[in-house]
Amino acid sequence: MADKFGTEVRSRIMRQIKGGDTKPEVMVRSCLHRAGLRFRLHRGDLPGRPDIVLPRRRAVIFVQGCFWHQHPGCKHSGIPLSNRRYWRPKLKRTIARDKANEQALAEMGWRVYIVWECEIGEKRLKRLVRQVKQGNRARGSK
Ligand SMILES: [Zn+2]
Repeated sequence: MADKFGTEVRSRIMRQIKGGDTKPEVMVRSCLHRAGLRFRLHRGDLPGRPDIVLPRRRAVIFVQGCFWHQHPGCKHSGIPLSNRRYWRPKLKRTIARDKANEQALAEMGWRVYIVWECEIGEKRLKRLVRQVKQGNRARGSK
């Protein structure tokens, strides 16, 4: 995407637009591709069906929505004030499932990277590429 907007504005726009090539996952994919990394998508044979799988790097990437996956400390996460009885267990289950999947993948020898939607921008994606290439085990949520 052309740099007409700053990272922050761009990511806000991206959150508003659903579908098409502005989807956060597509942003991540095109960035990896430009960096010369090769990957596969949604491998159903892996726990949690990771969004992006880099077999040669033994790395998987989940691109996660801040609300649905409850990004810790993020302004987009938190349980809605109305219908809390519905949301609380639902979101809790998602968090527990994410954790279990991450753990299972790690036990299988995969490096797991989480990219939160609110973080997506040039800086975060550059760091992701660096992490994947270096085999850095840090699981970036910062
Ligand atoms: Zn967030």
